[in-house]
Amino acid sequence: MRALCWHGKGDVRVDTVPDPKIQHPRDAIIKITCCAICGSDLHLLDGYQPTMESGDILGHENMGEVIELGSDVTNLKIGDRVVVPFTISCGDCWFCKQGMYSCCDTTNPNAEIARKAMGHSPAGLFGFSHMLGGYSGGQAEYLRVPMADIGPIKVPDSVSDEQALFLSDIFPTGYMAAENAQIQPGDTVAIWGCGPVGQFAIRSALMMGAGRVIAIDEVAERLAMAEAGEPKRLTSPRPTSMTNSCHAPPTEALIVASTPSDARLRATAPLTLYSIRPRQRCISPPIESMCCGKRL
Ligand SMILES: [Zn+2]
Ligand SMILES: [Zn+2]
Repeated sequence: MRALCWHGKGDVRVDTVPDPKIQHPRDAIIKITCCAICGSDLHLLDGYQPTMESGDILGHENMGEVIELGSDVTNLKIGDRVVVPFTISCGDCWFCKQGMYSCCDTTNPNAEIARKAMGHSPAGLFGFSHMLGGYSGGQAEYLRVPMADIGPIKVPDSVSDEQALFLSDIFPTGYMAAENAQIQPGDTVAIWGCGPVGQFAIRSALMMGAGRVIAIDEVAERLAMAEAGEPKRLTSPRPTSMTNSCHAPPTEALIVASTPSDARLRATAPLTLYSIRPRQRCISPPIESMCCGKRL
């Protein structure tokens, strides 16, 4: 099959590689119909993620059609359309039983390396280095999905690939930011950064009953996309300098959904995503700001 492979910093190529095969009775093979490029893929492209190896297949936001099933996968059938969370979860460990699938402590065979690097290992992840399991990603024609009886979600015919795809990672990321901000009905919420995660955080905040959302960004197209959501409750009067917005307007909650390029912003918001509820001084712990704890 053809697949997008990492070969080093700034070196990603479409290679011909062996098709994936069923390796375990709980595996499925899906024919990829849609996949996304994540902001996190830039960490790989830019060489920031250790334990990548030449030839690793990228891609952790995937969906497709089931074409082959291991004997233990009884909840899916050949031909099902599924969207696949980027975390690989066993369904049996303590974390999985609490619904914290991304913290599954059985699916990363290299958990000890991740623990040394990050203090805690998340679940094994698709297409995201060997210290996170070394699983091939889905920016390819086919994908092997381990523990396929747990992660994949069947997609009804009435929902298009493009509508379902973002459930694999980026929609839950924005949703969780809004959830962590403990938005109450009528709250004013400032969302700093209106890229894909910010867009989903904006829509999630509105869905949770925010009275007003202030979208902060300096790219006019992003603000226009934000306003297309629900202009009555959204304010983004003009492209705003994100640096000058360090002192955010008075709000009940502030969500930072940004990968800052500015040094001052980087010092203020070193993580790509976190939520602050000023009145309650609730700051998401870093581990929840990354993939860990995300309830995909
Ligand atoms: Zn992603
Ligand atoms: Zn588990």
